[in-house]
Formats: sequence, C-alpha cells, structure tokens
Amino acid sequence: MQPSQFYAGLELDRAAHLRCDAAWLAERLHDGATRLLPVWRSQHLVRMRDGCEPLVLSPIEGKTLIAAREELVFLGERGGAAHFAIDVSGLQASAVRPAEDAELADLRAIGPLLRPGDAATLAYARAMLHWHARHRFCGACGATTRSEHAGHVRRCTASGCGIEHFPRTDPAVIMLVTDGDRCLLGRQARWPQGMVSTLAGFVEPGESLEEAVAREVLEEAGVRLSDVRYVASQPWPFPGSIMLGFFAAAASREIRCDAEELEHAAWYSRDEVASFGEADFSQPMRPGAALRLPPRDSIARFLIDRWLGVR
Ligand SMILES: [Zn+2]
Repeated sequence: MQPSQFYAGLELDRAAHLRCDAAWLAERLHDGATRLLPVWRSQHLVRMRDGCEPLVLSPIEGKTLIAAREELVFLGERGGAAHFAIDVSGLQASAVRPAEDAELADLRAIGPLLRPGDAATLAYARAMLHWHARHRFCGACGATTRSEHAGHVRRCTASGCGIEHFPRTDPAVIMLVTDGDRCLLGRQARWPQGMVSTLAGFVEPGESLEEAVAREVLEEAGVRLSDVRYVASQPWPFPGSIMLGFFAAAASREIRCDAEELEHAAWYSRDEVASFGEADFSQPMRPGAALRLPPRDSIARFLIDRWLGVR
C-alpha cells in the first residue's frame, strides 16, 4: 500500500448500511454524541489555535443550523458518534459562527494546517455538499431532485422519470514527466506567483488513464511519452475530483506550450527543484526569488517529493 494521501484516510466508518435507516438517522439528530460539521458556501467552520481544527457541534449547539439546513449528509460513525455534514449556505455568515473564535475558512487555504484525519473528513463533506448544490435538477428531464439515503442519492421528483443520481467524482490524471535527472514542470497563469507544478488534466470518455496522461502531456507541453506508471491517488474536492498520480518517462525533449493551458514549462534538474521555495502564498513573491513548489497537501507535491527521494 502507498502511504495515504492528504484528504484520504477517512477516520469515520462510512456505515453505508445505516443510510436508509430513517428511524436511526432521526434519533441521531437528538443524540448528544452526534457531531455536526456545518458547511457554508463551501467553507468550513474552524478554530485557529495551534494549527487549525474543525469546529463540530452537538445537535443542541447546532439546533438553529439544523432547522435552517439546505442539505444534511450522513458521513459516518466514529466511536459510536454519528457525523453529519450540514449545508447552511442560506444563512448569513454571522449566523453560522457559534463562538467569537470560530472562523469560516476554505479548505483550499487551510488544508495543509489540518490534522490529516480532519482534512479527510472536511474534504468528504465539501465534496458531498458541492455535489448536492450542482444536482438540484434532473439531468434527464429537468425536474427537481430530492435527497435520499441520508444524502447519498438524489432522486428525480417527476412521475414517469424518478431516476436516481449518485454522488460523482471526476477522474483527473496528474503526472510527473521525467527525462533522466530532469523533470518537466509548468505553471498556469492563474496560479499563485512563482508556483510551478506537474501537468494534469481530466480523463475523457473513451480513453484509458495511461492514454489520458500521454494526451495531456502532448497537448499541454508537446512532449511525447515512452512509459507511464501509476503511483497513487488522492481525493481532491476542488470541487469534485479524484487525482490519479503517475510517473511518466519522456520520449521527446522539446517543449511546445499550449498557451491556453500553460504560461510556461521547462525541464528542471533535481538540484534545481530541491532549491525551490515553499508554497507560502500569504507572502508576495519577491523579484528574483526562487520558484515555488506546490503545497504539501497536493499529490503534485507528493510526486515531486517522491522523485526527489524525500518522501
Ligand atoms: Zn427526471
């Protein structure tokens, strides 16, 4: 087994067999052991202390949030405590924060500060509620859908249709392309200043993962591949992907960037990559400063670190 990637390694038992037990689920919303994770417009309730920790509420503490909820998803159990994600996006932000020191924060910003088990729970909650928000209408007939199975199915409400829609995760390939002691890194114009990373792209219908890797690298950087090897995968709830990580060996060296995809791409030696800065995007990039690696919570960084031999 590969070491678990950040945002994987959920510590909850998903307990799928309980998702259709309406009586048990209803009782849990009055059980003092139950833990609620509010999500407000894809942001989580957290407390910044030594690092960052999610703020979970009991049903009594979260009574007004339960009443105002747009969606409720049973995430699973831990130590006999049921955990629910609760979408409270319809409220004002000030109504969501139960305490002075509570903050609403985007997982994209706080991810690396979290304990890995907490990061996995928040990633799961965020991905599920994003899916609900984007599947309110049936893709087959256009009628409204409603949540069932404790938030794990949406069913079309139209008589004569009624099809079930299931939570989806979109596969994307991400690859570190190497040529001997050099690797290919690029940057997209919208990324934080100075950051370079591996290439990546969505898998298209009708192609294998290996074909997707080869196609993306050829499209984005004009480089052909000779060998593609799977390494590890990572849930990536930004907004709803699973990243499938690969090492790939280059069969050609010349880089021709697709300007629509990449602002820049180049071959970098191990020594060069090891000298790159950390991804501290709270600080503006100084002129002439070293390039920056992707954040530590990303599988891109895992692939680079693995290639450098530091992970
Ligand atoms: Zn329908």
